[in-house]
Formats: sequence, structure tokens, C-alpha cells
Amino acid sequence: MTTVHLTDKQLQEFAEVPDNLGPEEMLHISKCESCRLRVRNYTLLYAGLNAMEKPAFDFDLAPLVVGQLPPSRISAPKSKYYWAAVLCACIGTAFVALMVWVYSPQLAVLFRRLPGIGLYMVVIPTSVTFLLQCSAYIKEYKRNLIFGDRSHQLLK
Ligand SMILES: [Zn+2]
Repeated sequence: MTTVHLTDKQLQEFAEVPDNLGPEEMLHISKCESCRLRVRNYTLLYAGLNAMEKPAFDFDLAPLVVGQLPPSRISAPKSKYYWAAVLCACIGTAFVALMVWVYSPQLAVLFRRLPGIGLYMVVIPTSVTFLLQCSAYIKEYKRNLIFGDRSHQLLK
């Protein structure tokens, strides 16, 4: 038999679902008057809590809270000019694709004639810049996920 009394958590679990304890703890409870008394107290407490009527609001809380929120100043212009940003991105992408297609023979010659070290001097800074830019975008995205539009208001 365990000489140390069971913890409150073990006793609460036993009061809720008696099959949860191991055989050693069950043996202790069967022999220990103090632990049995505490289990009985928890059982009575849980029965009383379950018998209580659940509290309920007799009014709708959501409209009261939403009515007190200030109107958003940031999100309206974003949605208003969203189509312009998409249009500019499409035009820019098409322009870059056209330039790559038109000048592809010259671009191929440019990279073919670069010495090995020159190629690394182009590729490494470009890759590092690209990775740093991606990292910054990810940080900004995560911050927007946490703070939403309020991060812009906090910076002002
Ligand atoms: Zn005990």
C-alpha cells in the first residue's frame, strides 16, 4: 500500500471516473479513510455542480459589442483599389515575360560567357537578397495574422 496520500488531481479523477486510477492507488483508497473522505467530498461537489442550473444570458451580446467597435479606417481603401494592384501585377508580369522572350538569346550568351567566379558573384547576392526578402515577407505576414489591421494603427 502506498503510504503517501493521493494528490488532489488523482482524487478528482477518481471522483469523476473511478476506473482511471491504477491498482496501487485503488488499493490505497480502499484502505485510507482520509482519501476516501476527500473523494466523497469531490463527488458531492461535482454532483452539486451538475445539479446547478446553467447560467445563460437573456440578451444577445454580439450586437452590443459590435456596436461599440470603432469603424475600420484601413480596410476600406484596401478593398477599393484591390483591382488596380492585380492589374499592375498582371501588366508587370506580362512585360517581364515579353522581355525575357525577346532577349532570351542575349541573356543566354550573357550567362554563358561569364567566368565561374563572375557567375557566383551574380547568383549568391541575388539568392541572399531573395531569401532575406522572403523572410521579411513571412515576418510581416505572421505579424498581420496576430495583430491584423491594428499593427498599422499602432505604428502611427
Ligand atoms: Zn490516503
